[in-house]
Amino acid sequence: MDELDQELKEREADLKEIIKANESEENILLAERKKIEDQVKKPDVSVYMRIRKAKKGKAVSTIRRSACSGCHNIVPSQRQLEIRRNARIFTCEYCGRILISQEIADEVEAP
Ligand SMILES: [Zn+2]
Repeated sequence: MDELDQELKEREADLKEIIKANESEENILLAERKKIEDQVKKPDVSVYMRIRKAKKGKAVSTIRRSACSGCHNIVPSQRQLEIRRNARIFTCEYCGRILISQEIADEVEAP
């Protein structure tokens, strides 16, 4: 697989995670019919693209053992709760990556 293919694949997986974080249960079915990038709120896409560029690839982090998987700094527990509620997109205050709950990452990566 060449580099461009790899990058597109990564981007698609990241965007799926962002979409998942934005979904409320009632619009999941509706959202599935649309194109991936249309489903992501526009500001989220631009945030994503900016972080992706700045971080040379990985724009999305998951929370592992209360820490950001990108920079390993602890995410405050109140913030973790908000992220788990998927109310909106949060970024890591240390490295700036978009934080996604581990549950969402697991759902996206599951076959
Ligand atoms: Zn971080």
